[in-house]
Amino acid sequence: MASAWPYWLPIRADLYGISPYGAPQISDVVALNTNENPFELPKTVQDAIVSRVSEVVHSLNRYPDRDAEALRSKLAEYISKTTDTNVTRENIWAANGSNEILQTIMIACGGADHLALGFTPSYSVHPLIAQLTRTPWFAGTRDQDFAIDIAVAKKLILEKNPSLIFVTTPNNPSGTSTPLTHIRELADLAGQVGALLIVDEAYAEFSQEASAVGLIADFQHVVVVRTMSKAFAFAGTRLGYLVAHPAVVNAALIARLPYHLSSITQAAAEVALDHAELMQGEIATIVSERSRVAEAIASMGYKPVPSAANFILFSGFTDEASAVWQRLLDQGILIRDIGLRGYLRVTIGTPAENDQFIAALRGITE
Ligand SMILES: *Cc1c(COP(=O)(O)O)cnc(C)c1O
Repeated sequence: MASAWPYWLPIRADLYGISPYGAPQISDVVALNTNENPFELPKTVQDAIVSRVSEVVHSLNRYPDRDAEALRSKLAEYISKTTDTNVTRENIWAANGSNEILQTIMIACGGADHLALGFTPSYSVHPLIAQLTRTPWFAGTRDQDFAIDIAVAKKLILEKNPSLIFVTTPNNPSGTSTPLTHIRELADLAGQVGALLIVDEAYAEFSQEASAVGLIADFQHVVVVRTMSKAFAFAGTRLGYLVAHPAVVNAALIARLPYHLSSITQAAAEVALDHAELMQGEIATIVSERSRVAEAIASMGYKPVPSAANFILFSGFTDEASAVWQRLLDQGILIRDIGLRGYLRVTIGTPAENDQFIAALRGITE
């Protein structure tokens, strides 16, 4: 890649070697590789979005509500209801996907003299955004079961003195969740070293574990990052948000681009939130399919990692994982090789898609 950059392009030297983030987008395959919700939006919500968007079209000559007040109020209502808390609009900030949320936090609170620390393997966009914002990144580890060992984490945090600590729960790519009691201990440690604890809860709605939102009242430096891309089946809209102390929201406002969240996005997301239960109507199906797929994988002799999300990481290949990935693709099934040696990750699809995946895996296993 390095030599591919033309000499006249003043690209940053520290970016020479990296390639754009992203999983392959291949058409005419069963796509079980990016943890999307496989179910289309309910027709009622589709119609309601079209009708609401048609109402804002006439005013697209104007900039959107810069502070997305109506949307943030609806997000606050949704979070208060589902996490049994009492958060308000002042605790919420919304952006184009939770990736933009993460980037904005790192612009505001990262940078060369602010260390960020995570527990890998985890979401690879966290260190990527750290690099882009010139925030030094330290990769802590997880144990063999992909859990965070709190004693090890404690030592590490006290030794490294980070400004930002990232925890993804349920974790991507492992699907494992960190118990709230452990998140609370990490919050306590983050407080001791003066760090923000950023809890990425992209998959929270698939999990039984209580949300870290409940900690914010006691720990002002806890930031919970959420998205409508997964459980809400709304990935194409691009809507993520954070829940935190209002001071964190104010810091995000400094770093955000003016008018970053379009009127169309705000309108569509408001409608989706008005129909939150309907939008999440397939979660139960996905959760029961998760058990069915895990059992099928295990019955073939592979080892699925227990998942609280809408995907399963599994190992136990006799071949290289990448060869298995390719043979599945040859049969029209696209899953994810996340670059973790000996493991592949499959997103839970519709029951029919899962059947196809199971049949294809069985075919190459026997
Ligand atoms: C999918 C994912 C996100 C990003 O979602 P957006 O579509 O940008 O909202 C963030 N964190 C984790 C851990 C994810 O898996």
